[in-house]
Amino acid sequence: MDFILASNNKKKLAEMQRILAPLGINVVTAKMLGKTLTDVVEDGETFEENARIKAVAACKEMNMPAIADDSGLCVDYLGGAPGIFSARFSGEHGNDEANNDLLLEKLEGVPMEQRTAYYVCAICCVFPDGREITVRGECHGNIGFERDGNEGFGYDPLFIVDGRAFGRYTAEEKDRISHRGNALRALTKELEKII
Ligand code: IMP
Repeated sequence: MDFILASNNKKKLAEMQRILAPLGINVVTAKMLGKTLTDVVEDGETFEENARIKAVAACKEMNMPAIADDSGLCVDYLGGAPGIFSARFSGEHGNDEANNDLLLEKLEGVPMEQRTAYYVCAICCVFPDGREITVRGECHGNIGFERDGNEGFGYDPLFIVDGRAFGRYTAEEKDRISHRGNALRALTKELEKII
């Protein structure tokens, strides 16, 4: 069964393909089908709502099962910010360097025990017959005082789990405990029930 991924992010595509292939699911992008998905406004208030907005739109436009995710970092000291605005915390969409600088600035002088944070990943699957699955994965850690490591992306150089920044985790090590890994494992369980 082919699923359309509501994103052209190559890393997300590879990860979803790898995890869903054993279920007989082939994840493709609109680009791979020679099409372009119309941009949608992600105006949900939660990760789950935004993932659903993208999946519903892709399913409707392509008339095939669709999968979408939405993820971000929630920092307890900042009341859950940047949350759903993680990609554009500093104003410019996808500027990881500026986002990390701003996070360090906002946590200046805050001691380690108050620097708790968690990554969230929501994934939504929508089928043309109206069936829907939404799952959520989390990964809890702390925000470091300085960047560490070059692996991963986004806030990974600042996100510490078990005394080590995600910037120093291999992709396999991160997959095992990450919010995205946890959400994909939850999704696999749910999909196994219905396909
Ligand atoms: P999106 O789900 O692709 O919109 O990503 C949201 C943003 O959250 C990214 O641009 C990153 O800033 C942040 N983020 C989500 N997951 C991760 C992760 O695994 N590592 C680092 N940053 C992440």
